[in-house]
Amino acid sequence: MIKVDQLSKYFTPLKKVVDAISFEVNKGETLVLLGTSGSGKTTTLRMLNRLIEPSSGTITINGQNILQQPADALRRQMGYVLQETGLFPHYTIAENIAIVPGLLQWPKQQTAARTEELLHKLQLPPHEYSEAYPRELSGGQQQRVGLARALAANPPILLMDEPFGALDPITRGMVRKDFMALDELHQKTIVLVTHDVNEAFIMGTQICLMHEGRIAQIGSPATLLFNPANDFVRNFFSEQR
Ligand code: ADP
Repeated sequence: MIKVDQLSKYFTPLKKVVDAISFEVNKGETLVLLGTSGSGKTTTLRMLNRLIEPSSGTITINGQNILQQPADALRRQMGYVLQETGLFPHYTIAENIAIVPGLLQWPKQQTAARTEELLHKLQLPPHEYSEAYPRELSGGQQQRVGLARALAANPPILLMDEPFGALDPITRGMVRKDFMALDELHQKTIVLVTHDVNEAFIMGTQICLMHEGRIAQIGSPATLLFNPANDFVRNFFSEQR
């Protein structure tokens, strides 16, 4: 589904923030970009939806080179979830969730039904929350709305950058559990950025451990834990215990 080949980014000529990385993500898989702060995770993620243009390398999605596609068409097939929910404060919860369906000119009834379905599934009873405004919700509830908004128009791909990072550990666990219980996730291709090893192991089908813009190791969680490719990987996980 997603194929990244020899992808690099430098903002200044001397420092490659992402240095010739390659990976593939199959449909239905969750690839976790894991690593300490500054290792190049967010830059990599943002190249996938062209918020950042690569310096070199290729990205293909469903066999198409995304660098030759208009960025807005590309982004329509991707939900994007960030640590800061970015909900519009003057829009109700239902209006926030309806943004992408609106851009795609979905019929009103279809949008309303989808919004209601997502609010139910994410434990925000629609009769209580549809007409509320973001400021009336807790941080965890706002992040649930952010997830619903990203999922609303059924994008086949989800890009997630520390989606639970702003929440306290208990709330984080609850929001993550309800998110992961969504049936529709099984068909999605997800790329998730986190520095949280626990989260990487809970959510990842593949983990890509990054270090100074390069891939230290990529593989299943068990492979990284039990067959570390080098001392960096071994030390990274032993320091987390
Ligand atoms: P991570 O997500 O792993 O914390 P980032 O991809 O955000 O890492 O950043 C990797 C490195 O790239 C950091 O050293 C950061 O300072 C640098 N960087 C990120 N964006 C820019 C930019 N727009 N201009 C210059 N340097 C940047």
